[in-house]
Amino acid sequence: MSFQLPQLPYDFKALEPHIDEATMQIHHDKHHAGYVDKLNAALAGHPDLVEKSIEDILRNIALVPEDIRQAVINSGGGHANHTLFWQIMSPTGGGEPTGDLQKAIGDFTKFKEAFTNAAATRFGSGWAWLVIKEDKSTAVYSTANQDSPLMQGDTPILGLDVWEHAYYLKYQNKRPDYISAFFNIINWEKVGELYRSIQLPH
Ligand code: MN
Repeated sequence: MSFQLPQLPYDFKALEPHIDEATMQIHHDKHHAGYVDKLNAALAGHPDLVEKSIEDILRNIALVPEDIRQAVINSGGGHANHTLFWQIMSPTGGGEPTGDLQKAIGDFTKFKEAFTNAAATRFGSGWAWLVIKEDKSTAVYSTANQDSPLMQGDTPILGLDVWEHAYYLKYQNKRPDYISAFFNIINWEKVGELYRSIQLPH
C-alpha cells in the first residue's frame, strides 16, 4: 500500500487559456508526483499511517512521529492540497456559487475580494483557501508552503496554489493576473458538493 498520484479529471490543455498546458503537465506530473513520492518515502516503515487517508493524517498531525512530522506536513500537505486543487477547477467552470454554498458565502463580490487579497498577499509560497470551520461557518485565509487547513481543524473546499511553479511560465511575476484568471475556471458545482458533504451529519 502507498499513496498514489491521482489522474487529472481533464486534459492538460483543458484549462487554457487561463492555465497553460505546459504548466499543468509539469505541475501534475513533476510537482504533485514529487510530493506523493516523498510522502511514501517518509512513511516507509509506518504501515499504521499508510493505511489512513491523507486527510486523517493531517487532521491528527500531532500523532505523526516527530522525526517524520515536518516531511509529512510538507509532502502530505502537498499531496492533499493538489488533489483538491485539480478537482475544484474545470474547463466549464467560472460564474458564481449557487444554493446553500451561495448563502454561506454571502456577497460574492466581497468573497472574491477577500479570496483575491488572501492569494495576493501570501508572501512567498503558499495557498489561498475557502474553508469550513468546525462550527460549520466559512472562512477565507492563506497558509504558507504546503500547510493544510486540516492541521488546524478546518476543511478546505476551495484552494488556489500561489507557488510560482503554479503560474510562472505564463504569468511570470504577475500573480494578480493568475488569481483573476482562476475565477474563470473555478468548479463551483464541485465546491458546492464538498460544502454539502461537510454539512451532512457524519
Ligand atoms: Mn503546486
